[in-house]
Amino acid sequence: MSKTKELIVLPGDGIGPEVTKEAIKILQTVCKRHNKKLRIRSFPVGGASIDRYGRPLTEEALKACKESSAVLLGAVGGPKWDDQPKDKRPEAALLQLRKELDLFANLRPITTYKSLLQSSPLKREIVSGVDIMIVRELTGGIYFGRPRFIEQTENGERGVDTLSYTTEEIERVAHAAFKTAANRNRKIISVDKSNVLDSSRLWRKTVQESAKQWPEIELQHMLVDNCAMQLVRNPKQFDVILTGNMFGDILSDEASMITGSIGMLPSASLGEEFAMYEPVHGSAPDIAGQRAANPIAAIASVALMCRYSLDMPEAALEIEEAIKGTLEDGFRTADIYGHSTKEYRATTSEIGSAIDKHLSPNLKPGNLL
Ligand code: NAD
Repeated sequence: MSKTKELIVLPGDGIGPEVTKEAIKILQTVCKRHNKKLRIRSFPVGGASIDRYGRPLTEEALKACKESSAVLLGAVGGPKWDDQPKDKRPEAALLQLRKELDLFANLRPITTYKSLLQSSPLKREIVSGVDIMIVRELTGGIYFGRPRFIEQTENGERGVDTLSYTTEEIERVAHAAFKTAANRNRKIISVDKSNVLDSSRLWRKTVQESAKQWPEIELQHMLVDNCAMQLVRNPKQFDVILTGNMFGDILSDEASMITGSIGMLPSASLGEEFAMYEPVHGSAPDIAGQRAANPIAAIASVALMCRYSLDMPEAALEIEEAIKGTLEDGFRTADIYGHSTKEYRATTSEIGSAIDKHLSPNLKPGNLL
């Protein structure tokens, strides 16, 4: 029997608790199958933590994350807390976690499922076979740059943010992207705005320099505005996309529509010491509590956790196959429901249970509910 791994769950707000519940269910099933011991502890984060403790992330929760093998986060935020000062907003917890755990490389796979091609607003022939990995820098750039403030001027208010990157910050995420590409199709497109921004000029120069250590990997550069267009024109040209914090945030939400829904996109945030897994989507207050949230992004995030943190690569594949099988069986939450007679409109927990049953060795195909 292997050593007990420690998982910290931060369910968060809105649909966060709904989707993490299903992800944990799946994780427990694969751990049981693979004889892996897992200790799970849960802490409120974001708005839930503000309501209970007056701040979005407690010292106790942060300490627990630093002692863990992995962290699973749902999502934070919601209109209830929108008027809080910026360091007391739920999203401050997210930024603090990323910074404190030094999670500089955010991996966001964009994978299409054959049975879901019609859910994308893009044409079937454009999205069929797309398999992209976005590697987004996560602890630098404009979300963390200083100074940042809103000030009074003679002509009204003025808001300032700072976009800065150091060579070291770019080098380490570039290294993560080259390593990722080496295990895929060996092609990286680095995305920046070097025709306008100095930080992007340093980005491009540094990535080019890093590429010398990876001669087997093909590197191209692309401006972010062109990339936004190319992602919907011809997404199959991309293998690994390497980009900064804000560009990666925006491009991955755009790319989610290739898969059919933002509810399909998982992510892994990796550093030298710690790892956090979370769906790409937010807390979706518009559907919270309606049992309508798609849990597949959270469940696929747990598959990434098995691969990168829990030393269970076979379990990761099993979960990914179970997701595929569940979609092939026709199970759909509202966001990916196409109104065909072959589809069954399912709740969040029905999707979780269908995936869980696919992982069960005694499963009878076609009899999933
Ligand atoms: P969102 O991702 O929460 O929702 C965007 C749209 O996608 C909504 O219509 C929502 O219903 C839908 N959607 C999202 N996830 C879904 C799922 N799993 N299944 C089905 N539909 C889904 O983005 P938003 O509305 O811009 O933000 C809502 C809140 O979430 C804000 O407070 C924002 O700051 C926060 N947010 C948090 C994170 C995070 O915690 N990582 C990320 C993004 C946004």
